[in-house]
Amino acid sequence: MHSFAYKNGFLYCEDVNLADIAAQVGTPVFVYSKKTITDDLREFREALSPLKAHVAYAVKACSNKAILNLMARQGAGFDIVSGGELWRVINAGGDSTQCTYAGVAKTEPEIRYALEQNIYCFNCESENELREINRIAGEMGVKAPVAVRVNPNVDAHTHKYITTGTNENKFGVDISRIEDVYAMIAAELPHLHIKGLQMHIGSQLTDKQPFAAAVEKVLPIVKKFITLYGIEFWSIGGGIGIVYDGCLESGKPEWWAAHPEQITIQSYAAELIPRLQPLGIRILVEPGRRLVGNAAAMLTTCIYEKKGEAKTFKMIDAGMNDIIRPALYEGYHEIWPVREHQNDEILADIVGPICESGDFQAQNRRIADVQPGEVLAEMSAGAYGFSMASTYNSRPLAAEVLVDGDKWSVIRRRQTLEQIVEDECLPE
Ligand SMILES: *Cc1c(COP(=O)(O)O)cnc(C)c1O
Repeated sequence: MHSFAYKNGFLYCEDVNLADIAAQVGTPVFVYSKKTITDDLREFREALSPLKAHVAYAVKACSNKAILNLMARQGAGFDIVSGGELWRVINAGGDSTQCTYAGVAKTEPEIRYALEQNIYCFNCESENELREINRIAGEMGVKAPVAVRVNPNVDAHTHKYITTGTNENKFGVDISRIEDVYAMIAAELPHLHIKGLQMHIGSQLTDKQPFAAAVEKVLPIVKKFITLYGIEFWSIGGGIGIVYDGCLESGKPEWWAAHPEQITIQSYAAELIPRLQPLGIRILVEPGRRLVGNAAAMLTTCIYEKKGEAKTFKMIDAGMNDIIRPALYEGYHEIWPVREHQNDEILADIVGPICESGDFQAQNRRIADVQPGEVLAEMSAGAYGFSMASTYNSRPLAAEVLVDGDKWSVIRRRQTLEQIVEDECLPE
């Protein structure tokens, strides 16, 4: 459950009025709740406590240094997808030996860096990648810990751009070939140490069933690999979905009671524990979105209203460069006025300043009739929000703020125009 709610006519994050942050830091700004993140991490731990489980936070969901530092201090490991993310984890005070490294196109410098930093395991996605890691580890005189990502070919029932576990996707090795690949590693790649098996079937799954189906399908293979190779862990990936439509209400227990179908950390754990416990090996989970998604709102200011022939537009000061999810995969975010309104809803499109028709945050949305100058909160903005931001249209990256009770701190200053161009230069 998150910590955003209306109190005394204003939207608060924990005990901080979001209007105060907007007034002092300006907009757009991402505001994260420390309590939401730490509560959810604890909930994962407790729910999975019957297993030898470990939570590896998927860094790409939100990689701000303060957020990574918070995760590290709470004892989370990290699932990374690049050398840059490994560097970020270390820079933020995280432990490189708690990092699992996924990704389909790891380069030689990245592999060397990860070996030097003694990461927990490479989660490999192809035979050629395994051969390359074997070669580099051989040159460095070390043994590289590896797991292979198996593609269980189950449909995650999520948007086509974020489903990853069918044989149409670029990720992992087909389940029909995984045993041959492990046999090949054991026979031919002496500089690799087979440490585990990995899978990850997609993102924003709101139903438990695909997780259960994937675990059922891969379970016999894990049992075989425990016997054959003595694997010590099975990573079952991330992907647990969050509430986008209904976000604000889902800050209250009543909402959850009325929506028993929505996946929760407890229902996910209850579905998987009976299947996983008998294995006795370490289980890694790699949540990204579920740990940070509902933990942040992005504040933005309404700049103009425009009444067109067919539609009313509210223009805001945040664009697809700040949150790309609606443009990239039809992502849905609730948008609420920071100053509470009563009974003045209209139908409008909420659009940004960018010169692209795809630059909208909401279309045909019933929303409070906010006026220019008013601040809006775009909810569920913590995951794949700031981490996907760009400076397109020469727009500085937004600021980020972390709330802790009645206190708040800037955890990323707003970028300046000088910073946008600082690495550009004229030809000699
Ligand atoms: C992106 C990713 C995750 C996290 O996915 P969420 O949907 O944010 O939980 C976990 N594991 C791997 C390998 C990923 O690529």
